[in-house]
Amino acid sequence: MQIKSAEFIVSNTKVEKCPKEPFPEYAFIGRSNVGKSSLINMLLDRKNLAKTSGRPGKTQLINHFLVNKSWFLVDLPGYGYAKVSKSSKKIFQKLITLYFEKRRQLVLAFVLIDCRHEPQTIDLEFMEWLAINAIPFHIIFTKADKLKPKALEEAVENYKNRMLETWEEMPPYFITSSSNGMGREEILNYIDNLNQELTGN
Ligand code: GDP
Repeated sequence: MQIKSAEFIVSNTKVEKCPKEPFPEYAFIGRSNVGKSSLINMLLDRKNLAKTSGRPGKTQLINHFLVNKSWFLVDLPGYGYAKVSKSSKKIFQKLITLYFEKRRQLVLAFVLIDCRHEPQTIDLEFMEWLAINAIPFHIIFTKADKLKPKALEEAVENYKNRMLETWEEMPPYFITSSSNGMGREEILNYIDNLNQELTGN
């Protein structure tokens, strides 16, 4: 897919206030600092469209971007930032819970995982929650350029093995780097194919 246009539409804290146009929607979510803003900018080929937050965990907003005037890319708040207070964690949880429960046009969520880290409980629990709630998702491993090919392969294998302790199968996944563009074509083509299936074009 070629990115012909990508525009920021709105940021808000209420699912009811998300854009009403019935375009297919793809949500990106992950722990703070996982590389979400960098990935979104890399995918959309824009330098600063998604803002890297100076204060991680503070910007708890649902950000909508309209791509090629035909689908929405949604930047959801990052989770798991240690310094966020308990009460704001609750508000955050409510916000994403409501988003996933109410946003009918959501086609797929992408859960971002830093490929350098051991599997984290918070990510595993979040993916379980998605599965229980029948919300389709794929995994995106980020920052692949930070590992040598062999170490990257091992890290992904390690993640798979950890998931297969409780999951019947490994969810589909992409391996990406915002530094060198790895995974960009695969993800955009994947979205393109889904959009075509949905619209019957
Ligand atoms: P967010 O909090 O999830 O939006 O994460 P950011 O996109 O702000 O990235 C967090 C940090 O990781 C920043 O310092 C980025 O420059 C760095 N980063 C993000 N993606 C990559 C990547 O693919 N490769 C490398 N080497 N660094 C990355």
